[in-house]
Amino acid sequence: MVWDFHSLLLQIQMLFSVMLTDDSSTITCCDYCGKVFVSVDSAEYCCTECESEAKGDK
Ligand SMILES: [Zn+2]
Repeated sequence: MVWDFHSLLLQIQMLFSVMLTDDSSTITCCDYCGKVFVSVDSAEYCCTECESEAKGDK
């Protein structure tokens, strides 16, 4: 299988532009583990596990 690199790149750029224009979701790093994730409603952590670990209420 041969990848069409340019169309793949365009799809990624479109995906990112959609993400960036959507007010409720942005690409950010998890405050706890540093993983890059799509933050919805300005969430600071990639998952509930990281959130509870970071807040220490486990
Ligand atoms: Zn995390």
